[in-house]
Amino acid sequence: MGGSTPGGGAQSGPPRGIRNTPMLKLGVSYYGNRIPWRVKEDLKEIKEAGCTYVVHTFSEEDLEFYLPAMAEIVNATHELGMEVWLDPWGVGQAFGGETYSSLIAKELSVRQISSDGASLPIACPNHPLFREFLLKWIQAGAKLKTDLLFWDEPHFIILPEREDAPPKLWACRCPVCQELFKQRTGRPMPDLLTPEVRAFKEECLVECTRFLCDATRAEGLKSSVCLLPFKSSSTVNNWSKVAQIPSLGIFGTDPYWQPHQREIGSFVGRFAKEVKALADQFGKEGMLWILNFKIPKGEEGTITEALEAGYAQGIRNFAAWSYYGAAPMNLRAEDPAAVWKTLSAAYQEFHRRKG
Ligand SMILES: [Zn+2]
Repeated sequence: MGGSTPGGGAQSGPPRGIRNTPMLKLGVSYYGNRIPWRVKEDLKEIKEAGCTYVVHTFSEEDLEFYLPAMAEIVNATHELGMEVWLDPWGVGQAFGGETYSSLIAKELSVRQISSDGASLPIACPNHPLFREFLLKWIQAGAKLKTDLLFWDEPHFIILPEREDAPPKLWACRCPVCQELFKQRTGRPMPDLLTPEVRAFKEECLVECTRFLCDATRAEGLKSSVCLLPFKSSSTVNNWSKVAQIPSLGIFGTDPYWQPHQREIGSFVGRFAKEVKALADQFGKEGMLWILNFKIPKGEEGTITEALEAGYAQGIRNFAAWSYYGAAPMNLRAEDPAAVWKTLSAAYQEFHRRKG
């Protein structure tokens, strides 16, 4: 369905010995509007900007209240010849997303528990009820006829943490996690963040991601994963563990440079290089997210700089977060029109290149 991209169509494959040039894929995320005939106007603009796919957020609210509108939005995206990705935006708060979760308010047992016993407003990736909810979300996405499901920033709750000292508080020590830890190590789960607990947490995130990619493939869909670009006991630090998941197709990260990074090219280029190396090693497609929010007025050129840094490392799949500089949100770019114009110009330029 959909998925037709400029330069796409039947691939006869390169002659032996000549490296295949990956197809250019350019996307943008879209949310905040569930009025299909208005969305269609924006989708036309997205297509004109050079996008070959749209990452539509598919939140808990969408699942509960906006299914007919989502079906129309997915269909309209396909009709314009663009591929559709669906994003579990803020689902259980265990993925990225500036929106609320109803699940963690209604089903308290699904919440992560901190090392001091507090119930936290985020679902535990090990909890069977959360896994069950995610399966329902995957099935709903398949019914909407999406092309791909996008697993964005899977994480345990991220609490303040320094590299040189274990944090005072961490999660998750819910009964499910404690039982799993005991099964695997033969010992009760400590309340300190020991190296063993760190390794356990990372393994749990990898396993949950594998579970999601497998379930996605069982529905006949592709998976893409974005890992957070910083080291923490609540994220996946050894990216190769995720990149090698057999049912995963696209692997990437989101090295957003605001507000701390000034050397955009080297900052983004470093991550692009790592993504490309892992993607090549495990036969995946590497992709990069490009910051399109919180851009100060006059600094829109950093968008082009970041795209070029990724391109130079061989990345040919980019997506920007989000449409029109996130104009409706608090985290908007200062000059959303200039951000959109810059992104569009860079995307058009990529289309003009050969290889
Ligand atoms: Zn847990």
